[in-house]
Amino acid sequence: MGIASSTRFKDQNKILRHFEERISVCCPKCEKRAEVSTDFTLCHSRLHCPSCFYQLDKPLVFFDIVVKEYCKLCNFRIVVETPEVGYRKEAIKVRCPDCGCEESYKPTYIEHVGYSYSFDGVDPFFQLPLWYQAPFKDELLWAYGSEHLLYLEEYIGAKLRERNQPRYMTMVERLPQFIKSAKNRDALLKLLERIKLK
Ligand SMILES: [Zn+2]
Ligand SMILES: [Zn+2]
Repeated sequence: MGIASSTRFKDQNKILRHFEERISVCCPKCEKRAEVSTDFTLCHSRLHCPSCFYQLDKPLVFFDIVVKEYCKLCNFRIVVETPEVGYRKEAIKVRCPDCGCEESYKPTYIEHVGYSYSFDGVDPFFQLPLWYQAPFKDELLWAYGSEHLLYLEEYIGAKLRERNQPRYMTMVERLPQFIKSAKNRDALLKLLERIKLK
């Protein structure tokens, strides 16, 4: 009972980012369920725990600082690149490697919107363990939140999976083979049921 019984799944063309706007994670303070909410327009993520009220904010924008100037004293070519800082400055002090004089220079900035897809089992913004996850054989079954979980359940439970002809790869098209495989269907659905009860 409770296991999705629909036989047909029509791709709603959702991409993973759709589910990244709200992610359930394990609170780093009290280990209960906390939420990471991300506004991709404002490039900002917030962790909030409803149990212990722990809160953390994180801008998703960071900069590489670059100074390319000639030393004001000896005309030596100065190149300084500082990667991945979270703030801007009007001027930074740089010591000339040739004559040793210290001068302020106006830097330029290369802006990045920073977050990573690369970790399994943690959220891409704070790298906290996902609330909804469980090992499956040598793999990991995980979902960012309850909406993602239900969408996966629909996909896994469907005997007929219909594409919807988008011009990009959708979330379900990018799923690993162990989730797509029909022979894992029943075991995965059972596991999803367990994860949902967390
Ligand atoms: Zn907490
Ligand atoms: Zn110099």
